[in-house]
Amino acid sequence: MPADYKHELVGVFGQPVAENPTGVMQEAGFAAAGLNWRYLNFEIPPEKLGEAMKALRVLGMRGINLTIPHKVAVIDHLDELSPEARAIGAVNTVRIADGKLIGENTDGKGFVRGMRLDRGFDPAGKRAVMLGAGGAARAVGTELLLAGVCELVAVNRSIERGEKTVRDLRAVCAGGGAVRFEPWRGTYAAPAWADLFVNCTSIGLYPHVEAMPDVDLSRAKPDMLVVDAVFNPPETRLLAAAKKRGLPTLDGLSMLVCQGVIAFKMWTGRDPDEAAMKQALREALFAADSG
Ligand code: NDP
Repeated sequence: MPADYKHELVGVFGQPVAENPTGVMQEAGFAAAGLNWRYLNFEIPPEKLGEAMKALRVLGMRGINLTIPHKVAVIDHLDELSPEARAIGAVNTVRIADGKLIGENTDGKGFVRGMRLDRGFDPAGKRAVMLGAGGAARAVGTELLLAGVCELVAVNRSIERGEKTVRDLRAVCAGGGAVRFEPWRGTYAAPAWADLFVNCTSIGLYPHVEAMPDVDLSRAKPDMLVVDAVFNPPETRLLAAAKKRGLPTLDGLSMLVCQGVIAFKMWTGRDPDEAAMKQALREALFAADSG
């Protein structure tokens, strides 16, 4: 068989990108699938985003991930948006179909998929509390509502941001589920009615691993699932505290891997080897921790 040295290209545009481990996970998936694809981290400053998006077409790339600070700004450079990305107001994945750049958001979908697969938790009819009102919270809140949660409370430090996010989330559910905002003042006590408690803030994210959301889990019901969007470290102080109380938990690696799995399928049209992707990601993060 003749050699094939041509790579199909995907990657991430962001600033900074040096510590972004997504490529390790995607390339493990490509290798396991026998695909001659590469995932590259591109350091793109905000003023170069427009040119970088044009380069996707010039280089014949198959898609791209967007990370800080481009998730919102990229919308101006796309041909179409998925309904979910439009509702969330941010794009983390672009796929290219018939020459068109289509913006998607796989963060919230990855979150819901991870809960279903890794914990057997179906959000339909459940009552949820979410800490945070930024990009991750908008994605998680949108997909929880689309998956049928009957009640969603967003708890946030900044009132203005919290209220804006809740207004936008109400538009998603269009009366299908109750969404409300609670300002985060002092210790937030997880309510006894909650089935799901999610941290969508960056509290506890490496290198601030000693930070812990100011919450009280003592009233939580015994099967309340506690999930952290923070994936580095995988066991945050919040998850350790929940485990100590015997509550079921799910780490942010699940969401990260699942959103990558969804992007992999959007780009390649194939189902990846999720176990290989997760293993590669864990190894990369643990190597980074000990390095
Ligand atoms: P944003 O900057 O958009 O939002 C940050 C949120 O955290 C805001 O609600 C902010 O509140 C809150 N916050 C930050 N510090 C504090 C604090 N000290 N006290 C109270 N609230 C605080 O970030 P993102 O939403 O994009 O990301 C949030 C987290 O989710 C990050 O850790 C990120 O790594 C993670 N993430 C994980 C993914 C995964 O696949 N596992 C995917 C995407 C994100 P305020 O409005 O008051 O400032």
